[in-house]
Amino acid sequence: MNTAHVVSSREVVKLDGITHSFKTRLGGPAVQALRGVDLTITAGRSLGLVGESGSGKSTLGRVVTGLLQPTGGTVEILGRPVSGKNAMKRTPGSVQMIFQNPRASIDPKLPIWRAIAEPLRVGGYSSRRRDIDVLLDQAGLGSAYGDMYAHQLSGGQCQRVAIARAVAAKPKLIVADEPVSALDVSVQAQILNLLKDIQEESDTSFLFISHDLGVVRFFCDDVAVLYLGQVQESGSTEAILTNPQHPYTRALASASPTLLSAATGERIILAGEPPKPDNPPSGCVFHERCHQYLGPICTQTPPPMYPTDSGSARCHIYAPNTSD
Ligand code: SF4
Repeated sequence: MNTAHVVSSREVVKLDGITHSFKTRLGGPAVQALRGVDLTITAGRSLGLVGESGSGKSTLGRVVTGLLQPTGGTVEILGRPVSGKNAMKRTPGSVQMIFQNPRASIDPKLPIWRAIAEPLRVGGYSSRRRDIDVLLDQAGLGSAYGDMYAHQLSGGQCQRVAIARAVAAKPKLIVADEPVSALDVSVQAQILNLLKDIQEESDTSFLFISHDLGVVRFFCDDVAVLYLGQVQESGSTEAILTNPQHPYTRALASASPTLLSAATGERIILAGEPPKPDNPPSGCVFHERCHQYLGPICTQTPPPMYPTDSGSARCHIYAPNTSD
């Protein structure tokens, strides 16, 4: 048996060298929102995407869903290239999205059951009321909610509707962009448990975008840390968040009360603001804020990803000692 083929057939999403840049209306240099992102998500796994605001997390999510075309690199969904000229050849319904503000994603003029049914009908899926009632039940809402309107529901109930709509087409991948950050803490746990149940029952993969490392630790098998549109560290969530190797991940983890002691033992305050994506620093893009700065190599030479004890990190600290 060809093992390599079996492994690759489990790949739901494969990103290879994804870049995205755009010009602003004010002119000036192009903004590089993503710079050479390589990531893979296999069937049934959840990948957390973390980083400060402006790191490119949501842009990457939109590239994966096809809402945005990358300016470079390739996106493969279920083994098929779907970026560039093949952008329209996505497997219908294979990727769905859950947004941060669910109320805004539900048509306020339609009763809930029709708001769920309409995109299903357009996509060629069953949109009968009794099928929608089953989806509402699965999402922890009774069928009576189908006759209500978005303005009559709480934020958590709206997110359950959005989840029902996302799973209706039986997607292989759900991109969830900050799906609980707008909800009360008690409701967050309910929604996360619902998503976990869905994942376990259906083998759905997730790209889970969040600034909350505690939430990512609960939900995600793997994690990738973005900074200035570039992956700085990736690997299994537990390994990375309890034993972060990249200085940026260490600083992020140290700001999380639940991870502080396991990750670093002391709070690391990040100096200054992230650099502007239209004027990135030379060398390592993190060097201006790095508390472990090594010297000229950090300002002059962009580090590649190196293997570490927790996965891999883009940092010269982990360069193999070539004198050995
Ligand atoms: Fe810090 Fe240098 Fe590593 Fe960049 S390459 S994270 S500046 S030590």
